[in-house]
Amino acid sequence: MERYDYLVVGSGLFGATFAHEAKAAGKKVLVIDKRPNIAGNVYTEDVEGIHVHRYGAHIFHTNDKEVWDYVNRFAVFNRFTNSPVANYKGELYSLPFNMYTFNKMWGVVTPEEAKAKIEEQKRDYIAQKQAERGLSADDPFEPRNLEEQAISLIGVDIYKKLIKGYTEKQWGRDCTELPSFIIKRLPVRLTFDNNYFNALYQGIPVGGYTKMVANMLDGIEVRLNVDYFDNRELWNAAADKVVFTGPIDAFYDFRLGTLQYRSVRFETELLDTPNFQGNAAVNYTDRETPWTRIIEHKWFEFGKDAEGNDLPKTVISREFSSEWKPGDEPYYPVNDEKNGKLYEQYRQLAQKEEKVLFGGRLGEYKYYDMDKVIASALRFSRATLNQND
Ligand SMILES: Cc1cc2nc3c(=O)[nH]c(=O)nc-3n(C[C@H](O)[C@H](O)[C@H](O)COP(=O)(O)OP(=O)(O)OC[C@H]3O[C@@H](n4cnc5c(N)ncnc54)[C@H](O)[C@@H]3O)c2cc1C
Repeated sequence: MERYDYLVVGSGLFGATFAHEAKAAGKKVLVIDKRPNIAGNVYTEDVEGIHVHRYGAHIFHTNDKEVWDYVNRFAVFNRFTNSPVANYKGELYSLPFNMYTFNKMWGVVTPEEAKAKIEEQKRDYIAQKQAERGLSADDPFEPRNLEEQAISLIGVDIYKKLIKGYTEKQWGRDCTELPSFIIKRLPVRLTFDNNYFNALYQGIPVGGYTKMVANMLDGIEVRLNVDYFDNRELWNAAADKVVFTGPIDAFYDFRLGTLQYRSVRFETELLDTPNFQGNAAVNYTDRETPWTRIIEHKWFEFGKDAEGNDLPKTVISREFSSEWKPGDEPYYPVNDEKNGKLYEQYRQLAQKEEKVLFGGRLGEYKYYDMDKVIASALRFSRATLNQND
């Protein structure tokens, strides 16, 4: 086999960014991925001209100008703005909570009226709870669970219709059994602003994320359907250094234990209709509907094909919260003490490696938004490539 300066295990955003930077620095790079496609979890698959986000909806948003300029080298970003809609038993509300939401909920028209309504609901609830506890309404209120925390921040109506059912489906438990710290604050907007992310830059790469990652990997050798673990001696021997972006516990054959994740299950359907729900994301906030939300992928690109024609069909994905078990797709790391400690032990083993470097969401057991994982890969590239020049 040929010799490479770097073997990159994983063609997700971390691996692709590093591979691009290494090539630009004159290094010879090989990227392998066990999946049949590049792009890791931002992979978008073309179905009837629609770019389907296979591993969950991905909306690029950042305040980091360097990262924004960087991704714009590889893709043209459209002006998509994430404005989810909540469906509570057929009643539709704007998210995040803003003047449209309050107008629909209570008929209030001005920010002052909305604020007064929220304050009234909070005050009544706290007074009632304090009375139950034999305290006065002026005593400090100590929420004992997520339900108490949420109502004391936003009032009972918003909680019941827009928070309770969704949160219970996400966690698989009643809000009264969930700890209050899960919700620290609930942003309330007294403006008519449905833009979910408060970011300076936001959009979706035209043509999908896979095309963007393919541009990042342009001119770099990539081998797909190759699992590093099937022959690590061979792969290690092929390069001076290995950049590993897979799960760190799997790298060590789970010898200290298995890191846990939270999972999501998707049920995706192609429908012979041009418009299923009229928006990219609709959250189902009642407890009875089994899915948490439905994504209609075509609206990330305004329902148009590359030539600007309307697409005749649509693809939807229903999302279900599900328990994760070893072997399932790892999605969200569990940031509790047990998993934090276990990761720290793996990290210490990793630091002793001379040839292998770890990065990305799985290599660092860390939830990273896309902009953050790119920023991390750029920092990592600077440090690594300077050191090994
Ligand atoms: C459901 C969901 C929704 C998200 N939505 C957003 C969003 O809207 N906006 C946002 O900014 N971020 C979002 N993210 C975060 C985003 O997905 C990550 O930032 C990004 O995917 C991390 O890239 P990565 O390269 O670290 O990991 P990955 O994309 O997971 O890439 C790792 C790659 O390594 C490969 N690999 C693993 N083990 C091996 C092996 N043994 N041999 C060969 N290859 C291997 C895998 O196949 C994979 O391709 C979301 C995440 C989730 C879970």
